[in-house]
Amino acid sequence: MRHINIPIFIPHLGCPNQCIFCNQKHISGTVQFDENNVDNIINDVLSTIDADDECEIAFFGGSFTGINRDLMVRLLDKAQGYVNRGQVVGIRMSTRPDYINSEIIDILKRYTISCVELGIQSMNDNVLKYLKRGHTSIDTINAAKLLKGSGFDFVGQMMIGLPSATLEDELVTASAICRLGAVGSRIYPTLVFKGTELENLTNRHEYSPLSISEAVERSAKVLEIFIKNDVQCIRIGLCESENLHSESSFIAGPNSPSIGEMVKSQVYLNLITEKIQDLKETFGETLFIQCPKGATSQIIGNKRRNIDELKIQFGFKYIKVKENADLMQYQIILREKEE
Ligand code: SF4
Repeated sequence: MRHINIPIFIPHLGCPNQCIFCNQKHISGTVQFDENNVDNIINDVLSTIDADDECEIAFFGGSFTGINRDLMVRLLDKAQGYVNRGQVVGIRMSTRPDYINSEIIDILKRYTISCVELGIQSMNDNVLKYLKRGHTSIDTINAAKLLKGSGFDFVGQMMIGLPSATLEDELVTASAICRLGAVGSRIYPTLVFKGTELENLTNRHEYSPLSISEAVERSAKVLEIFIKNDVQCIRIGLCESENLHSESSFIAGPNSPSIGEMVKSQVYLNLITEKIQDLKETFGETLFIQCPKGATSQIIGNKRRNIDELKIQFGFKYIKVKENADLMQYQIILREKEE
């Protein structure tokens, strides 16, 4: 069964200000939200799905709970109609932490909300100020408490390589997302889009975007925190539906459609390296790695990067990878001999 979000982009609707990194019109390709087109978008997607696919209507690309109340309620009523007819299982939305309050919670309670996605980005207040987010980490803590206390699941969205942010800030943010009770997370390496203040900062050399390898390494450290805390990371990098709709929209930064795979591959490399060092065993010239089903390519890495790295670091002549259906994601077994 596939899980499909039917994205309804509401670019910048409800946003009280312009965060310095954001240009939803370039990310989503939706320049103007048209309420009259919502049914068409939903029905177009519904006409392509399989009978056992599980769908949610997802209001993305703005601050959904900050939009005009009448419009918000009309959109929720419309989406709920699809839930009531059994065509989708629920509604999800992305919004800002400071736009979750008791009034919003009372409205959301009237609908089948599967999940609220909170744009947390960072838990460092100095970083948030630099980004002109207009909220603080306390707003995030309050929003999470309010959502959890009212029985809503939330996903924490965070960014990697933001201006003035360090890896330490990112680890703290990921830990906070886990501690606050998120059911899931999204990791977005920072990209520079046309028409943003970040573009100006980049042009003035006041911001240097991460390279792809830096973004992969930092995202992997963050993903390890989510794995350890059993918080599912539902996305690394932009979604397929958020693909850059025009080449000219993208200015700079670690933009790759395979960044998620690269990050998972880096996590496996880190895991194998740590395990070899912890075991303190002397392996022979061959290392046998057992990995979960479907993880072979992540273990091997892009262009055999992980295999080459392990050979250089530990002197292995041969590395063999075998899938073991009993292993869960990110579980590995290392052996000197094949079993
Ligand atoms: S990051 Fe979120 S709150 Fe900021 S401008 Fe973009 S959509 Fe609006």
